[in-house]
Amino acid sequence: MATARVNTVAVLGGGPAGAMLAALLAKRGVRVALFSKAKRPPIIVGESLVPAVIPFLRRLGIEDEVAAYSIWKGGATFVLNTEQRLNVRFDEVRGARTTYSYNVPRDRFDASILRAAERAGARIVPQPAHLTREADTDRVVLGSDAIAAAGDVFDGKQPDWIVDAAGRSRQIARLLDLPTIEGERHDSALHAHVEGVEVEIDGNVHTDRLEHGWAWRIPLPDRVSVGLIVDTDFLRTFGDTAEEQYDNYLHADPVIRDWARPARRITPVVRYSNYQLRTTRGVGANWALAGDAFGFIDPVFSSGMLIALESADELATALLDGSPEALRTYERQFLHKLECWQRTVEYFYSGRLLTLFKVGDIVRTKFWGRMLDFHFRKHMPRLFTGEGATNRYSQWLLGFMVQHGLYRQDPAELRIN
Ligand SMILES: Cc1cc2nc3c(=O)[nH]c(=O)nc-3n(C[C@H](O)[C@H](O)[C@H](O)COP(=O)(O)OP(=O)(O)OC[C@H]3O[C@@H](n4cnc5c(N)ncnc54)[C@H](O)[C@@H]3O)c2cc1C
Repeated sequence: MATARVNTVAVLGGGPAGAMLAALLAKRGVRVALFSKAKRPPIIVGESLVPAVIPFLRRLGIEDEVAAYSIWKGGATFVLNTEQRLNVRFDEVRGARTTYSYNVPRDRFDASILRAAERAGARIVPQPAHLTREADTDRVVLGSDAIAAAGDVFDGKQPDWIVDAAGRSRQIARLLDLPTIEGERHDSALHAHVEGVEVEIDGNVHTDRLEHGWAWRIPLPDRVSVGLIVDTDFLRTFGDTAEEQYDNYLHADPVIRDWARPARRITPVVRYSNYQLRTTRGVGANWALAGDAFGFIDPVFSSGMLIALESADELATALLDGSPEALRTYERQFLHKLECWQRTVEYFYSGRLLTLFKVGDIVRTKFWGRMLDFHFRKHMPRLFTGEGATNRYSQWLLGFMVQHGLYRQDPAELRIN
């Protein structure tokens, strides 16, 4: 018997947001059917987790399982150019609750959360669900095929709520033509797995600032995930296909040429475009959005999986409460979170953030700088571990420092072109 006012929920999408939501609701007695598209790309982005994800894995009881097939991650390395580096060690972040994370093979990670949802009592239906719009209303209707495929979960009736957690396919936002906000960058992300590439600090996610755009290196078992985030038009000058563009640009950029020289690509290249996209509404009459289906800002700080899991957690709380106010709070919190990440991401692309960290290395050599550093080491890095991403004071301090604390350095020198 359900312990909440919401008794039945259909979840579209078996990624982290959908599976986490299904697990949390099912644990509390809600009858959940999760519709999961079986066919997925050969490799999936979202392999580098921030430390704030770890408590979610513990709640699901899957941390040991995830650790067994993943790479332990102790920090992040920013490669500014051929000479300069910035290293963030999670165990040096003052006041951090979690001081490590993992780099995960996404297919296995998603399977772990999905199994946790199933163990919690959610019904996993390995097929997509079809939705339609109820004429002249804000309601969506689950197709009769899906209701039948869910067996006895909905007793042949419409579920109380339908949650779109189907990622970038944005089922409900498209169906209802919901307004969206697009980011300003016009980059493409080209993603592949390679052998033969080294990282500078074992386990760290590496962000390499390129002559055009930036690259990630995420160490995974037996391979490294390498992504190129480069202006879409510029990439076209390197070939017609995603493979040509990836292989040619990887070996052309002067910053990464050295480590890229021995790279052997062992997967196809998957392209992502127009990914900076958020919907301005996340809750309707009988529907809600979670994870990327609601919004995604940018890959640079590996925040997507955290935002997806947090949104699942907050939406589960709101649905269990069942009141319109709880659902509005969920929507407001999610949009606020994306705005916070958006600001931090803008500081990265403008060069202000990397300049601030570089200045930190200079001022730490002075007495007053060491005093300030004690304070900053609590607030700044916590923005990137995810634990302080929406903390008002940390956000304010960052905004103030990138405006007034650059010590006469020109941020344009570290801008991402
Ligand atoms: C280039 C790039 C790099 C990134 N790198 C990172 C990173 O390193 N770290 C990080 O934390 N985040 C990263 N992200 C973000 C991260 O991948 C996403 O934020 C995260 O996967 C969101 O999870 P989700 O569950 O909302 O969506 P998804 O992971 O996309 O899951 C949605 C699921 O729904 C399924 N689906 C789709 N349509 C249907 C349908 N009609 N019916 C049923 N199921 C359907 C899909 O197959 C999928 O399984 C990156 C994003 C990009 C674009």
